[in-house]
Amino acid sequence: MTLRGNLVGGEVPLYFVMAPSYHSSTLLALLLNNHPDLSSLGDTLPHRRLYPNQRCGCEARVRDCSFWQEVHRRLDADRFAHSDFMIPAYPEVSKDYRINSVVARSLTALSLSLGPGVWKLAPRASSEFLETFLRFGEVICELQQSRIFVNNVKSFTSLLALRSLLGKRARIRVIHLIRDPRGYFLSERKQNPAVTPRASGRRWLAYHRRVEWLKHYTGPEGYFRLRYEDLCDDGEAALAQLCRFLEVEPQPMCLPVVYPEKNHVLGNVTRFDFDGQIRPSLGWIEATTAEEQRQVLAATRPLSQACGYS
Ligand SMILES: [Zn+2]
Repeated sequence: MTLRGNLVGGEVPLYFVMAPSYHSSTLLALLLNNHPDLSSLGDTLPHRRLYPNQRCGCEARVRDCSFWQEVHRRLDADRFAHSDFMIPAYPEVSKDYRINSVVARSLTALSLSLGPGVWKLAPRASSEFLETFLRFGEVICELQQSRIFVNNVKSFTSLLALRSLLGKRARIRVIHLIRDPRGYFLSERKQNPAVTPRASGRRWLAYHRRVEWLKHYTGPEGYFRLRYEDLCDDGEAALAQLCRFLEVEPQPMCLPVVYPEKNHVLGNVTRFDFDGQIRPSLGWIEATTAEEQRQVLAATRPLSQACGYS
């Protein structure tokens, strides 16, 4: 999302990481930032409502961070003071965030099946979203002197609304980050002891199937599956493949922060301890029973099997 004039015509490249919680997408953002051509910002959009005191990767609060304040200024984001996020993650048809998420999702689904004319129901909200979201990517690249902004907002509605509004001009590239569902189950259970293996497995499968379904819009050439375990086994090899997918020159990236001026990543608190190492997350082997592991795998087949988790 780096070309000014995107609204006029021509192809619009859009890069997204898609992953549910507990998949180390914040770590991936830090690794991507170690490439001079790439920018990624973790959870990407500062959240006004849920995390008013959110801390940035530079350790300042977002409201005090000079980078995010400059982004805010260049996007004239005071316009969205009532929004959930610094800028809307999808068209803002209603100012009530609960209503809006449902309405935006419905309009997006309708527009994909009936055609972009559906957005005539919300012309201002849709054009404001499109313009601001594309400009957001440009601003990030301008400020970080990079070429490609890899969006980590992880919202299907956001991605699909952009696809619907841009039509075939959208050249979507999806990095599908995937992790062993048994590890995902343990992470979920640490947050909520009532989580069952089956329910966790079903959530894992539903999310990852939806990401795979995005191939419908990306084509096979626009989809890249990245297993967390492959990052752990040989991070440089996995990232070199990812660089080729993103059409940038591979180079060593498993390093502590190379460009401190890009370290304004939002997301998991482990980012403050980032040292360039990617550690396997194998606590589930000891912390879950064989029966729980069996139930998770049963609930996540055939995808988990296809990914080598068995
Ligand atoms: Zn910052």
